[in-house]
Amino acid sequence: MNILVCIKQVPDTKIIKINPKTNTLDRSSAPAILNPYDAHAVQEAVRLKEVHGGKVTVLSMGPPQAKVAIKKCVEIGADEGYLISDRRFAGADTLATSYALYKAIQKLMDEQGIDLVLCGKHAIDGDTGQVGPGIARRMEIPPLTNVIKVEEVDLKEKRMKVRRKIEDGYELIQSELPCLLTVEKEINDVAYSPLPNMIKAARYNPIVWTVDDLDDVDIKQLGLKGSPTIVGKMWPPEKSAGAEMIDGDVKKQAKALVEHMLEKRELFEVKGGEKV
Ligand SMILES: Cc1cc2nc3c(=O)[nH]c(=O)nc-3n(C[C@H](O)[C@H](O)[C@H](O)COP(=O)(O)OP(=O)(O)OC[C@H]3O[C@@H](n4cnc5c(N)ncnc54)[C@H](O)[C@@H]3O)c2cc1C
Repeated sequence: MNILVCIKQVPDTKIIKINPKTNTLDRSSAPAILNPYDAHAVQEAVRLKEVHGGKVTVLSMGPPQAKVAIKKCVEIGADEGYLISDRRFAGADTLATSYALYKAIQKLMDEQGIDLVLCGKHAIDGDTGQVGPGIARRMEIPPLTNVIKVEEVDLKEKRMKVRRKIEDGYELIQSELPCLLTVEKEINDVAYSPLPNMIKAARYNPIVWTVDDLDDVDIKQLGLKGSPTIVGKMWPPEKSAGAEMIDGDVKKQAKALVEHMLEKRELFEVKGGEKV
């Protein structure tokens, strides 16, 4: 079973700051990490490979430093990784991103065949959840979104059954293969990487493709040129009244929090002295 996983390197949104002058993300303020949902997608691909055999390939579009995220996937158990990286991809919105990834997938499909494509539910920075379905539409394969469990894979009959999260429960869906899944974090736990994988990842050098390595690319659909989205305005979410971030390690934070609560203890009392 040949599985392709699309992965994105993102800034750690738990740490990232917003530039107060430009109101844009200050990407230099946070370390780059593998999009957490994509780590679960890779883990699921590795699990499926262990059951059904085959190969796990990861693919990313991004700057050269995105190789680090690909190496992380090799640590989780991916067999190989491709990075499509070229100035002509820069400035891409989700439409142009899904086009570029689709072109690379088409090439990999011709070279090695792909039974299943996996993506994360969304990227924690852009957060649109559009890229996975965008790729599926271009490949003309079914997109199964918000998957929390792979129930069954029948490679002989070329079909699979998955459990999808919906608002008030879940639904079971059967699809033909190949198809594309976007996965939720509940699908698995990302295991600690075994030492041989860590050694392999440290030595691994992802394969880099530029636009010229892809076949039949319409340059007009790439990068900023191929991006009809216009970001009109961006602003940080308004702080709720009185919200405050406490710096320091957990002990310092807890101490400061208790002191702060004691200072404001009148907020925790109602008239008559009865605590609420
Ligand atoms: C006008 C415009 C210009 C932009 N310019 C840039 C730019 O120059 N540089 C930049 O980094 N971003 C840029 N962006 C943001 C960029 O469009 C999105 O980050 C990107 O399209 C992915 O969308 P998303 O983050 O919402 O991913 P989602 O759709 O939420 O991601 C879902 C899943 O799709 C897959 N996926 C998403 N992105 C990638 C990727 N790059 N490689 C592999 N798999 C992926 C992953 O599996 C991910 O879990 C721009 C956006 C706009 C609107």
